[in-house]
Amino acid sequence: MTHIIHRNPKANLPVAVSGSGCFITDANGKRYYDACGGAAVSAIGHAHPAVLEAMENQARQLEYAHTSFFTSDAAESLATHLARHTPSGLGNVYFLSSGSEAVETALKMARQYHVDNGQPLRSRFIARKQSYHGNSLGALSIGGNLARRALYEPLLMEAIHVSPCFPYRYRAEGESDASYASRLAQELEQTILQTGPEQIAAFVAETVVGATAGAVAPVAGYFEKVREICDRYGVLLIMDEIMCGLGRTGTLHAFEQEAVAPDLLCLAKGLGGGYQPIAAVIAQDFIVEKMQSASGAFQHGHTYVGHPVACAAALATQQVIQQQSLVSRSQTLGTELHDMLRATFGQHPKIGDIRGRGLFQAIELVRDRESGEPFDASLKIAQRIKGAAFERGLLCYPGSGTIDGTSGDHILLAPPYVTTTGELQLAVDLLAGALDDVMHAIPA
Ligand code: PLP
Repeated sequence: MTHIIHRNPKANLPVAVSGSGCFITDANGKRYYDACGGAAVSAIGHAHPAVLEAMENQARQLEYAHTSFFTSDAAESLATHLARHTPSGLGNVYFLSSGSEAVETALKMARQYHVDNGQPLRSRFIARKQSYHGNSLGALSIGGNLARRALYEPLLMEAIHVSPCFPYRYRAEGESDASYASRLAQELEQTILQTGPEQIAAFVAETVVGATAGAVAPVAGYFEKVREICDRYGVLLIMDEIMCGLGRTGTLHAFEQEAVAPDLLCLAKGLGGGYQPIAAVIAQDFIVEKMQSASGAFQHGHTYVGHPVACAAALATQQVIQQQSLVSRSQTLGTELHDMLRATFGQHPKIGDIRGRGLFQAIELVRDRESGEPFDASLKIAQRIKGAAFERGLLCYPGSGTIDGTSGDHILLAPPYVTTTGELQLAVDLLAGALDDVMHAIPA
């Protein structure tokens, strides 16, 4: 008998009792390799002593103080650390407790900036199909994950959705990266012009798309073109690195690989690495300066903003990442993981694409490799692979509706950066076994 409203009331969930490194152990003593870091959350693995100590010290000293009365050393130090490791101009941090809250905050900050800047008509947001920005109503409104939106459609605010940058599915035959990027940039520009640039507050995009399409990195030059267009029309660029940020893709910020910087950056999962719920928005100086000079302050707030224990946990997590050079480890091990996936699945008749950056990799499943035809959605292939992998002691993150919200399946891998080559090989072998289990069970 449970009193929890579980995600799936019919699932008979094992009880997770402990974690160590990249493994979680359940109440029956079964161990699972955490190949997806939960949902790309765990960066330095479970039970890291430095983080546990920092949390304990902070909790003993001061667990909470409301930010309308006080600041705290924990929050100040974390903000300083983030500002130091983010390109100049992006030195202003607002802490939240979840990715969705970070996205809501970025949308509101964009809106207030424009009002304070004398452009009150700017209230509309452009985002992309096949994206995810969170489950609260504002974040869901701009997100392009159709399955997550469907039930709540009547409650959502109007947002404009343009095409994703998803080369495996949407780059035309023979189209170069440069032409594909230009085509998408033109679509964005046309959309801004048709709506009226004076009405657009911001363009929002995941730098590398996570759960919805499965580790989809942009083609070279895409974000540079997007940046140019945003600048041309006074549209802010919000980059959502909630899943792909803080080392996951092999650079601290995923945008560093795109030769651009956002106006507002959203971070979450890898920030606290799962030790505490914490997220952040980092804003460019000009945004904060404008809000402060015109309105005095950003008109927003939540009870747990800058929670000292969460900030202490996140600072310790980021220090571990830095001291142990885990960002470059994510890069190196990511290349190894990609090569292992290629060696195991590169010729597999049911794998259409292997993609990703750093320790953020995915395989896309297909009925037919040549044509890229997906499996029938009713087969729920990705979910079944998740189940078969779980039986074998492997945690992986399934996604369906990969192509257009309805069809397509992928499996996302995002292990902690402290993992090893041996563990990655174990994960790939277990995944191959799980894939076989499922393929044997479905009609030919
Ligand atoms: N943005 C992206 C890219 C995400 O992947 C997620 C969560 O998976 C969110 C936003 C929402 O974060 P949260 O679930 O912490 O609200």
